[in-house]
Amino acid sequence: MAMLKTILGNLLRPSRTRAPADMPDVPPAYRGALAHEAARCTACGTCAYVCAPKAISFTQDPGLSVSWRFFIGQCSFCGLCAQNCPTQAIRLEAGVPAGMNSAAGDGFRLESVIPLRACTRCGAAHVPLPASTMDALWGSDEAERGYCPECRRWAAGARLRVAFVPAAGEEVRHER
Ligand code: SF4
Ligand code: SF4
Repeated sequence: MAMLKTILGNLLRPSRTRAPADMPDVPPAYRGALAHEAARCTACGTCAYVCAPKAISFTQDPGLSVSWRFFIGQCSFCGLCAQNCPTQAIRLEAGVPAGMNSAAGDGFRLESVIPLRACTRCGAAHVPLPASTMDALWGSDEAERGYCPECRRWAAGARLRVAFVPAAGEEVRHER
């Protein structure tokens, strides 16, 4: 019965396959430049994975930060990175992002630094979720906001144990 419910639910859900209509907005004067918002980036790596010419890469400063890097010389301007970014941290820009014109660089690269945060439970350095995601998941004052992914998994497991594991002496019944 449960399986039938799942199958029906999946059949009635809209398609999750990306379609041309899902493409990000392209500004009229698009110059092939990407803008990246570090505060929205979870360093999941999806953008680098979908980028065939490998224009996006990451470097790490262990314990301190992760850097998202873009090299316009390798970009084919397909927009797949922006289309697939789950947090909308990448935008296609009409202008050249300021960081790309920095005196320190060659004008073709963009580096966006994502600072790591210490987990409030175990202390592990991790990339925090975007604030809007944390608000949606936990509200503004939930302890889990400061947890690393490992501790979030632990907290989810603890909630499941409380919900499903019967107290000592309690009879377990499985419905058929
Ligand atoms: S920019 Fe988006 S897709 Fe790329 S690593 Fe950050 S969150 Fe993931
Ligand atoms: S627009 Fe396409 S080629 Fe350019 S960085 Fe994004 S995925 Fe790679």
